[in-house]
Amino acid sequence: MPAAARTTAHHLTGTVATDVLVVGAGLAGLHVATLLARQGHDVLLADRRTTLTAAIRTTGIFVRKTLDDFPLPVEHLGPPIRRVLLYPPGMRRPVGLVSDRDEYRVGDMAALYEASAATAAEAGVRIALGTRYTGRHGGTFRLTGRDGPAEVRARFVVGADGARSTVARDLGLDRNRHLLVGAEEVFEVLPNGEPPTFHCVLDPSIAPGYLAWVVHDGRHAHVGTAGYADRFPQGLRRTLERFSASAPGLSGVDRPEAVERRGGPIPVGGVLRRISCADGLLVGDAAGAVSPLTAGGLDPCLRLSELAASVLDDALNAGRPDTLAHYSGAGLRAAFRGRLSLRRGLSQVRTPAAATAAFTLLRTPPGRAAAGRVLFGDRSFPGRPAAPRLHAAHR
Ligand SMILES: Cc1cc2nc3c(=O)[nH]c(=O)nc-3n(C[C@H](O)[C@H](O)[C@H](O)COP(=O)(O)OP(=O)(O)OC[C@H]3O[C@@H](n4cnc5c(N)ncnc54)[C@H](O)[C@@H]3O)c2cc1C
Repeated sequence: MPAAARTTAHHLTGTVATDVLVVGAGLAGLHVATLLARQGHDVLLADRRTTLTAAIRTTGIFVRKTLDDFPLPVEHLGPPIRRVLLYPPGMRRPVGLVSDRDEYRVGDMAALYEASAATAAEAGVRIALGTRYTGRHGGTFRLTGRDGPAEVRARFVVGADGARSTVARDLGLDRNRHLLVGAEEVFEVLPNGEPPTFHCVLDPSIAPGYLAWVVHDGRHAHVGTAGYADRFPQGLRRTLERFSASAPGLSGVDRPEAVERRGGPIPVGGVLRRISCADGLLVGDAAGAVSPLTAGGLDPCLRLSELAASVLDDALNAGRPDTLAHYSGAGLRAAFRGRLSLRRGLSQVRTPAAATAAFTLLRTPPGRAAAGRVLFGDRSFPGRPAAPRLHAAHR
């Protein structure tokens, strides 16, 4: 049986024992589960989704550092993107930045999740889809799947269950309080003669506290917006419709009637402080491992999963749960200090007039250099800054 087919084969009933129960088969959960299974541990991975190809939340933009450091299957990645256009409110006279390196690639997320699940299954992870974590009862964790409820006795539980983690609540760990909400439409496109481009619109009436985007890589268009939920007077959905009607970078593009819709919460308060206890730990969005400024969470979730797997491996081998105390977000938060203050700055841009004024700075050489550092820098999670290489875009 191919590995992908085995991923749904685990039906759970009664009481199940495992070394590690991982709740959530997003990229964070899949990665930590695979690493632990490769270290020889018994791992059960449960997700409430019945298929990993549906209910996708992310645009799937992978940054260069991730592409350099993780062996993502290239056949599931879109063409490299080097060009970014930043638009003020009104969308006239964008600021163009072009890197001399490939900076981004958009993943075909359905295929990437399936490939990651196949890799996890090959490593020996038992994957139970259509299986919801419903809570902790004393020493066991309760799952409800297609065959009804099951009790799991696990030495450790990993909360990879996203921004509003129930596992975090049940373990008494920190929870995300500072969240944006985002939504996008995705559809196939043909190459339009332009280089693959990431269009970003800084307009608080469309994206309050963040930005709206169009990514056109010659294969797919992603048209989306995100911001603070309470600052969308017409609601997120209506605002996305309004943006989509006049979004840049789509001239000559036939938008199909049926588009894929994605969306969800994005934690931007920085990695949480208390992300482990003697019974388990958190990874990915559940741990707040998202860049507060760019809202990119794919690179952080992969890197934090590596740390989590190594700490859990030590704890399982040593038989000492207190080893998990070394897994703390408090130290990691230091790397986010700069990005947290930039997030506070971005959240203060509340009117189109303020955003337009910010573009006056952005058009200066220091402003362009700062934008280049954010967009093309070598920072990752927790990462170190490095000088970007960019030159002006010729439009
Ligand atoms: C609109 C949008 C666009 C984004 N675009 C980008 C981008 O382009 N690049 C980037 O780097 N980051 C992006 N992000 C952020 C990024 O997608 C996330 O940081 C990343 O996907 C987090 O992965 P994760 O595995 O931690 O969580 P998730 O991918 O959210 O996975 C959590 C999983 O847990 C499961 N689950 C939840 N509760 C339960 C339960 N009780 N029982 C069982 N299963 C459960 C869910 O079904 C889900 O599969 C975006 C986010 C949004 C909302």
